[in-house]
Amino acid sequence: MGYENNVRRVTPYTPGEQPNGKVIKLNTNESPYPPSPLVEKALIDMDSGLLRKYPELGSGSLISALAGYYGVDEDQVFAGVGSDDVLSLCFLTFFNGSAPVLFPEITYSFYDVWADVYGIPYRTVPLREDFTLDPEAFKGKENGGIVIANPNAPTGLLEGLDVIEDIISSNPDVMVIVDEAYIDFGGESALSLLKDHENLLVLRTMSKSRSLAGMRIGYAIGNKKAIKFLNDVKYAVNSYTLNTPSILAGKAAIEDEAYFRDTLNKIVNTRERTKKELKSLGFEVLDSMTNFVFVSHDGVLEGETASEFALRVYETLKEKGIFVR
Ligand code: PMP
Repeated sequence: MGYENNVRRVTPYTPGEQPNGKVIKLNTNESPYPPSPLVEKALIDMDSGLLRKYPELGSGSLISALAGYYGVDEDQVFAGVGSDDVLSLCFLTFFNGSAPVLFPEITYSFYDVWADVYGIPYRTVPLREDFTLDPEAFKGKENGGIVIANPNAPTGLLEGLDVIEDIISSNPDVMVIVDEAYIDFGGESALSLLKDHENLLVLRTMSKSRSLAGMRIGYAIGNKKAIKFLNDVKYAVNSYTLNTPSILAGKAAIEDEAYFRDTLNKIVNTRERTKKELKSLGFEVLDSMTNFVFVSHDGVLEGETASEFALRVYETLKEKGIFVR
């Protein structure tokens, strides 16, 4: 087998397709709207001579814009190449124990991939029948950390802050990561809990609500000590992560609150209309608080399995230029 015996073998995460051309693309939860015009301006105005140099160490000007926006100190913010990069570093930093890390059975399907690639033990926690989170299921179990997406993906369901706080306060000896990739579309952020819980880290992204998936900007907000631990690991892996255009674009996006609010309103209105229309077509639609919807339908044909049915729906829509997952 030669060198292959020494290879780290993993089953990778499967991202949604990125087709070219004019399609209706619902498969990766991007924004249908362009980013704020201030982003374009920042990129056009950028002195290309800046690209000769390495980017700002620690993405300082973006961090400072984020800290100002959220009313936290700069040393409470960490930025990375999309929240995938930040999450990956979080797994590496905070989940170094021998007890299993817990996350819901149905959630963002990258969590188990990071656990596998880093050799982190994990256990999935079943959701209730209606796909909601049962905080009791996260209590009294020896664990090495917890990850919760709120709202959850792919269900789109939002949990109240009481549920999140219940989980955090019942697990004071491990880090609880709350992935808020979709919180801007409606929901109360766990940021307000940071003052009372040192074992909380809140993750955000500019890929969805700020229309910047192509720029790859994600960030974590936490207590100073946790951010320091995260930075130490980052500087042991790759010192320069966010590139200069991304830092400038991210900062510009944060500065355009009016555009942000306007875009969010449009997306939320479309979501609510879509839920209604899909229901009238006979779909069962979960009450999404995100920018996507999770639906099911009882149109399974005789002799067809549920996954064959799902594949048929997927392929029929794809032929019509509509991409779903
Ligand atoms: N968390 C969740 C729950 C997501 O759905 C996504 C998007 N796939 C991410 C994190 C990662 O997003 P990004 O890396 O673009 O910030």
